[in-house]
Amino acid sequence: MKTTVSQALFAEAQRLIPGGVNSPVRACKSVGCDPRFIQRAAGSRIHDADGNEYIDFVCSWGPMILGHNYPAIMEAIQKAMVNGTSFGAPCPLEIELAELVTEALPSVDMVRFVSSGTEATMSAVRLARGYTGRKVIVKFDGCYHGHADSFLVKAGSGVITLGIPGSPGVPDDIVKNTISIPYNNEEILEKTLRDEALDIACVIVEPVAGNMGVVPPAPGFLQKLRALTSELGIVLIFDEVITGFRVSYGGAQQKFGIMPDLTCLGKIIGGGLPVGAYGGKREIMSMISPVGPVYQAGTLSGNPLAMAAGVATLKALKEPGFYEKLDRKSADFAEKLRTLAEKYLAEATLNRQGSVMTLFFAKGPVTDFDSAMKADVSKFGKFYRAMLDQGIYLAPSQFEGMFLSAAHSEEDLARTLEMTEWSFKKIQN
Ligand SMILES: *Cc1c(COP(=O)(O)O)cnc(C)c1O
Repeated sequence: MKTTVSQALFAEAQRLIPGGVNSPVRACKSVGCDPRFIQRAAGSRIHDADGNEYIDFVCSWGPMILGHNYPAIMEAIQKAMVNGTSFGAPCPLEIELAELVTEALPSVDMVRFVSSGTEATMSAVRLARGYTGRKVIVKFDGCYHGHADSFLVKAGSGVITLGIPGSPGVPDDIVKNTISIPYNNEEILEKTLRDEALDIACVIVEPVAGNMGVVPPAPGFLQKLRALTSELGIVLIFDEVITGFRVSYGGAQQKFGIMPDLTCLGKIIGGGLPVGAYGGKREIMSMISPVGPVYQAGTLSGNPLAMAAGVATLKALKEPGFYEKLDRKSADFAEKLRTLAEKYLAEATLNRQGSVMTLFFAKGPVTDFDSAMKADVSKFGKFYRAMLDQGIYLAPSQFEGMFLSAAHSEEDLARTLEMTEWSFKKIQN
């Protein structure tokens, strides 16, 4: 496969942009190769600057659940664009998206739009602290909630992949108010939350972890978390930036039947444009400025193009049967992938929740950060490079999900499995 144009672009980019990328995992360091520069996309495919075509399982890290360039989304953006790209004043499309979001999530009475998932989680935590008057946040090892200071403690994907324990530049004064505990461990959870000396404002969780690879919640874990936080007056924040509109139309909270106090959204709700959101109970959301004293603002928040893309996306996802069909396709693909992995790899574990899955190069079960860390990343790197050269574009890290979209055809998936078998054989030697 010819990659000379990507290589030249990467050299030029590295001169101007740190590491040549605007988000670290894209640099492909952990899988031992250089990034391909992507020029265009359509449906299930992306095309790089050398003219190579790939079947795309990154899907922009989740947002492209309908595939790239979905016609209704493209039309909605074009229609909105004619009227102007930003007003810095309220616009009707914000209400339309807010209606769709609050209707989809019964736990969300009110919602505030921001421009990224990081902004959503950062603001939700500020709100939880403002509401409770307490300081400490509890998170789980391997869960990623964006790159705000207080979350960079055992923070999953990019941070793990690069082997950074937390991050320089984050003062101890800030992270001393963050407690990170193991995912799926009810005993440690209960002990931590019942410790009154800790002054806990909130617990933030990925209800299905997606940033240490896909790790679904153990049966009863989220229920226990909800029961304890309700009893103790701790705000429960579901970070559904990946799972929202992914694992079901109503997200993980619908799937598992849990009502969190606050929910963070991103990725899919922007349909490929920069959007995040946080929302929840009216009583808590009424603490936000200008109604209440907790400050949060954004020049481009509620941007009309982004809102138009979000509205068109949610309307398409609302079609009856959308998730059943995507789940069935994903389950079938996952079973075949698991069978191949068991045949060719000494150690393999496939975790899946709906249309997102991770094949861990590890002996299972993978239920938390420590078990995920047992994966053979060097073998994964070889597999990644073999797949890339065969035109299959996976996330360039063992600790990420593989995203399926409505645009992946049976032929795409059959070809992917064929290339998977080829790659497994190749890396055996
Ligand atoms: C991607 C992600 C974020 C951060 O969103 P950005 O838009 O990248 O800032 C937060 N939480 C989870 C669970 C994510 O997967």
